[in-house]
Amino acid sequence: MPTPPLASGPQGPDALRPLLDTVLDALGTGAAARGGPLPADGPEAVAARMRDALGDPLPAEGDPHALHRLVHALAAGSADPADPLCAAHLHTPPLAVATAADLAASILNPSLDSWDQAPAASTLESLVTKALAAELHCADALVTTGGTESNQLAVLLAREAHGGAQLVVGANAHHSLHRAAWLLGLPEPVTVPAPAGTLDPAALDAALTHLQGPRGSLVVAATAGTTDAGLIDPLPDIADLCEAHGARLHIDAAYGGGLLLSDRHRALLDGLDRAHTITLDLHKLGWQPVAAGLLAVRDAQDLTALNHRADYLNADDDTEAGLPDLLGRSLRTTRRPDILKIAVTLKTLGRTGLGALVDQVCALAQDFADLVETHPRFELYDRPTISTVLFRPTDAPDDTVAAVRRNLLHDGRAVMGRARLDGRLWLKTTLLNPHTRPDDLAALLKLVEGTTPR
Ligand SMILES: *Cc1c(COP(=O)(O)O)cnc(C)c1O
Repeated sequence: MPTPPLASGPQGPDALRPLLDTVLDALGTGAAARGGPLPADGPEAVAARMRDALGDPLPAEGDPHALHRLVHALAAGSADPADPLCAAHLHTPPLAVATAADLAASILNPSLDSWDQAPAASTLESLVTKALAAELHCADALVTTGGTESNQLAVLLAREAHGGAQLVVGANAHHSLHRAAWLLGLPEPVTVPAPAGTLDPAALDAALTHLQGPRGSLVVAATAGTTDAGLIDPLPDIADLCEAHGARLHIDAAYGGGLLLSDRHRALLDGLDRAHTITLDLHKLGWQPVAAGLLAVRDAQDLTALNHRADYLNADDDTEAGLPDLLGRSLRTTRRPDILKIAVTLKTLGRTGLGALVDQVCALAQDFADLVETHPRFELYDRPTISTVLFRPTDAPDDTVAAVRRNLLHDGRAVMGRARLDGRLWLKTTLLNPHTRPDDLAALLKLVEGTTPR
């Protein structure tokens, strides 16, 4: 076998063109073989088909058809967020232009741990993160793999700024905050009730009054866009309480942060500008392929905690001679330029284009809520705040709700999530596909109706 061609360099374009055709063809045949939002017949059948397609993962002799075979199999066995009936999670259908930019990132393969691996990419990252940070009224922002890493970093920076941290979270907070406390050797977070799905300020006040931690070591984590219901905590009230009690405020806006892009919905985030740190995921409302996370910090000084030296990446004499020191912009070392797809998207669509996408998915959620509300056999949890709609067949026991979801998953007909709120189990649809039409939503509701035993 001749030495395989590289993606970059002079051979790159000629080597890639036919391979890209292969990929696009396999994506098409795979999606056609699937024929719906996710593969039919459940996990065992999907696993068997994937096992067959893979065969020996490391054969003695290579297989030139591996690209087509595996991409086809993956597409055939995917839950496709571009299908209007795939609407369970914060699982975004990526924009074509963002994905094309991501391909360029893969081809050039800059690594953001040192300037000599990413001369232009490091400048692009610095410019775009500063601009996004400014949108969030912050001084700077780090690129992360997503909300989980952003939340971990936020807790780490709080701990380093105050020599310890006691997290105080709502009962509605993302599980990654609990894991961050565990990972960082901090005490268990104190959990404040969120009876209506959002953090209760009176209960927060009581918790902060009761906690006797040294001033500054209390860290409140509020949520702007809960994963289960898309609800936004009362941010101004929480910010007031944090100020009154000398607590630090982190806002996990992994989901809701994207509302900033919309003139119509931005006001829902009032109070966001009072946070010390903000988590934002552009692989949610932002339509990026994974990964595209950010952690914004109000005080750039907080980031000095991440400064770190490794002679081969940022020797002092290199830094003094003017080579930018990048290592302190992440806890990772080798790091993809996820900023490229973000930059291309922001510039291609502009505020207007991105705001329109946000408005579209929020409007879809309202449409779907209307359908549910006027349907005699369904109950709506509440009017949607962002683009999540929770509903359930009226009077159905929880195990029926769970079974309806699993039946639709098993048959490959629809992907909905589940959420337990007010003590009951709800079907969750997270609408993130701006191409979904009202007819699709009506079809989804009909499917659920047809699957629910009378
Ligand atoms: C999605 C989400 C996270 C986790 O983000 P990942 O990108 O999955 O790591 C954290 N917090 C909230 C509120 C989320 O919705």
